[in-house]
Order: sequence, then structure tokens, then C-alpha cells
Amino acid sequence: MKGVCILGATGSIEINTLDVIARYPQDFRVVALTANSETERLYHQCMKFRPAYAVMADERAAELLAAKLREHLPETEVLAGVSGLQQVAALPQVDYVMAAIVGAAGLLPTLAAARAGKRVLLANKEALVMAGAIFMEEVRRHGAELLPIDSEHNAIFQCLPAAYANGWEQLGLRRLLLTSSGGPLLRTPVEALSQISPDQACAHPNWAMGRKISVDSATMMNKGLEVIEACWLFHTTPERVEVVIHPQSVVHSMVEYADGSILAQFGSPDMRIPIAHAMAWPGRMESGAERLDLFKVARLDFEAPDYDRFPCLRYAREAAFEGGTAATILNAANEIAVAAFLDEQIRFTDIPRIIRATMMATSPRPMDCLEDILEDDQRARLEARSQVVAIRAC
Ligand code: NAD
Ligand code: MG
Repeated sequence: MKGVCILGATGSIEINTLDVIARYPQDFRVVALTANSETERLYHQCMKFRPAYAVMADERAAELLAAKLREHLPETEVLAGVSGLQQVAALPQVDYVMAAIVGAAGLLPTLAAARAGKRVLLANKEALVMAGAIFMEEVRRHGAELLPIDSEHNAIFQCLPAAYANGWEQLGLRRLLLTSSGGPLLRTPVEALSQISPDQACAHPNWAMGRKISVDSATMMNKGLEVIEACWLFHTTPERVEVVIHPQSVVHSMVEYADGSILAQFGSPDMRIPIAHAMAWPGRMESGAERLDLFKVARLDFEAPDYDRFPCLRYAREAAFEGGTAATILNAANEIAVAAFLDEQIRFTDIPRIIRATMMATSPRPMDCLEDILEDDQRARLEARSQVVAIRAC
């Protein structure tokens, strides 16, 4: 029986994780569930899975949850704040930590899981983008197991030889081919992009996801963040990671070898597949996902990305090449810009403008320590907020 802690238990990833867990009550026990401020949602998850701990990042929400649970589920202890999140990620009775908080807020709790030597099921790509060098070092030092949940990275993990960390050359590894559906705006005329509403940007053709990652998919920043994520996870450099537009979203990514072979992982676009893979690894288990019917898919299309239509993808690649805290700055600017867009303060096309301006105004430095990373994250947020204000004033 494995104890599971779910960081971000009211999001889209978690709904899928709890669905997988509910199929295997004899194998997995939910030890802790966490959320930001969605008291009602977390309360219902607690009533269903009866965890020993529930954490709300928001202190007031934690008080409300504690009051409700005291009456109906007194055995669940309620904790609050980032310290509560870090505490449950490192509990001795926890074996697996699903890291699915959205954005930079996930970094410290996910790091706590790595430092406690857990199996970390990583959905929270922003943690790796903003602090990859530190995060990977902590994983190594504490013997944590890092398994990718992002569908593309999970696909690559499945196509790589087990010893990929020992060096690419001796294994004949050449390139990673990271697929992308192209998002909901792949064919929208470029001149119409400035009028795209938050709901239009979030209407992903193949995946149902949280609103932040949905906007990232529409700008293709999501794929840019995934290029950086892939470099850290698979010990490679951005010139070895190619983005391939594949609108059907059934080939989840590929690995190219020296002899010209390309290995791919196929499956329905359903996050329960990578989640079940990472939870059962190195075994396999049922995920509940619909089987892929290749006759229904019928054809597979691949095309090169258009970096003029999707400038965010270019900026992310530039940050990947620049290294140091460039990606920390990119990620922070993107979080501020996406939040402002979802709040209808700026237009869709202002997102790349804000990221560009923030990267120009904020100089990166080597990724030496966590304090520097958190400081650069804050510097970039301040700059990006002032860019939002400037755009609104125009
Ligand atoms: P979501 O918005 O649906 O859920 C986010 C979760 O994070 C919620 O439970 C929320 O309570 C929690 N949260 C938000 N802010 C927090 C804070 N400050 N402190 C603590 N908790 C906080 O997002 P999602 O779509 O589930 O995505 C989660 C992560 O997984 C993201 O990093 C995303 O990039 C990644 N991911 C998601 C998918 C997907 O299919 N949804 C696929 C690949 C990767
Ligand atoms: Mg992905």
C-alpha cells in the first residue's frame, strides 16, 4: 500500500489522479490533499478519500475547512500555508507526491518532496522551469524518483532507454521530438488574435485543463516551458529538442536515435494514461482511459511551428539557450501576463509583449541558489506588473 500526497487536489490533474487512485483502493491510500482556497471542493474530496491531512494554502480558507471537517471528519488534521504544504509533502507515511500545483507556488512544496526522497510525480512544470538546476540537484542528492506527468515528457520517458541519465552519446540518442496540438488558435488569422477572449483561448481542441495552462497552450508558451522542462528532465540541451505540431494529439512525443529510428508513444489524449504510468512504474495498470482506435484516428499530420504566430515559443527557446535565471524571469513574466489576460486587463497579444519587455528589463544570473531564483522571480513579477499598468494606461 503506497501513501499518496496530492498537491493541488482541486485541479484538473488531480481530478484525474483521484480517478485513477479510486480504481485501486488496495494499492494506494490518500494521506494528504491540498488546495489553494477552494474550500468546498477540497471538503468534498476529503469526505470521499478521508485523508489524514488536508492543507489550504490560504489561511482563511484553512479555518473554514477546519470548521467544516471538525463536524464531519474530525480525524483529518487541517494545516495552512506554504509550511503546511511542505510538511505534508515530506510526511514519513507518504511514498508518492503528485506535484500538481499550478505555477511558481508549486516550487517549495515540490522541493520538499524531493528533499524527503519521495517518488515525485511531476505535473508542475513551472517548478522545473524556474529552478531546474537546484531541483535536479536535490532529486539526485536525496535519491528521490522523478517521474514526468506532462504527457509529452511521460511519452519521452517511455521511449528512452532506462540509462539515459548516463549520457546520450553512448546510447545513440539524437533528438527529442516534442509534439504539440498547436492549441485552439493554430489556424486563427493572425490579425484576429488581439480580439481573442479568455474563454476562446481556453477552448483547447483536445485537452480539458486548468485556465492558466490552457492560455499557455493558446500562446504556445506551454510548449516553450516544456522544451525547458525536457532539457532538465532528460539531461539535454535545447538544440536537441524539436517542437512538432501534431493537431491530432495522439502521438504524445518521440525520441530519435543515431540509426534513424524514431520511437513514439501513442494513446488517447487523456491524462489518466501518464498518471497511471507514473504511479505503476515500472509496472503497468489500468488507467480508465479510452483505448485509442487507430482506424478512427485514420491519419497523422506533422508540421513545423510558426514562430511569428507564436512569439512566446521563441522567447522560451531564447531563455533556454541563455540559461541561468532567464527561464525564471520568463516564467514569472508569463504568470503575471496570463493572470492579467484572464482578468481581462490586457489583450491576448499583450502577453508576448509583456514577456519580451520583462526579459529585456531584467538581467538573469547563474542559477546558483534558491534565494537568487526567488529574488529574480520577484524582480520579474514587479517588472511585468509595471508593464501591465503601462499597457492599460495606453
Ligand atoms: P488547475 O488550475 O486545474 O489546478 C491547480 C491546482 O493548484 C488547484 O488545486 C489549486 O488549488 C492549486 N493552487 C493554485 N495556486 C496555489 C497556491 N498559491 N498554493 C497552493 N496551491 C495552489 O491546474 P492544472 O491544469 O491541474 O495544472 C496543474 C499543473 O499541472 C500545472 O503546472 C500544469 O502546467 C501541469 N499540467 C497540467 C496538465 C493538464 O492536463 N491539466 C497537463 C500537463 C501538465
Ligand atoms: Mg504537456
